[in-house]
Amino acid sequence: MDVLRQNEIYEIRESSIHNKGAFAKQGIAKGTRVIEYIGDRITKAESARRSIRMIEKAKETGHGAVYIFELNKRYDIDGDVSYNTARFVNHSCNPNCETDIIRGRIWIIAIRDIKKNEELSYDYGYDLDDFRDHPCRCGSDKCVGYIVNQEQWGKLRKLLIKDKRKTTKSNKNT
Ligand SMILES: [Zn+2]
Repeated sequence: MDVLRQNEIYEIRESSIHNKGAFAKQGIAKGTRVIEYIGDRITKAESARRSIRMIEKAKETGHGAVYIFELNKRYDIDGDVSYNTARFVNHSCNPNCETDIIRGRIWIIAIRDIKKNEELSYDYGYDLDDFRDHPCRCGSDKCVGYIVNQEQWGKLRKLLIKDKRKTTKSNKNT
């Protein structure tokens, strides 16, 4: 029942941001629980094991997707399963959704009214560590160029300005 209703409100197709994305099939009102983020419920110990495996895989293949979501102090959800369509929702620097945990379930919820055909997105909430490995192509006016949570944008901008200064200096030297 839930799944049927959800399929009426979004669909998965090619995205200009990254691979595939989830798009609104109809107008979605602010506050709507759009997609549930589902997957394996795993302990923190298992989560740590899987994360290490993913990082190793990323070193070999050059791309490691992170689908582990914190559920509570004891459990995480590993959303790297084919039936979890929420894994296609991309990050944006100006997102129209957010994630929230309601009674032990992770939901992607509309934070404003969304128009038909708009791509759904939320803030992945990555911290500054290794931000260069996560460039952002969300295309919004607000885009800071990397997938970094909004609270750390100030720090990120300072780092990027420092980078620029370094490159201009080295250019002068050559
Ligand atoms: Zn962006």
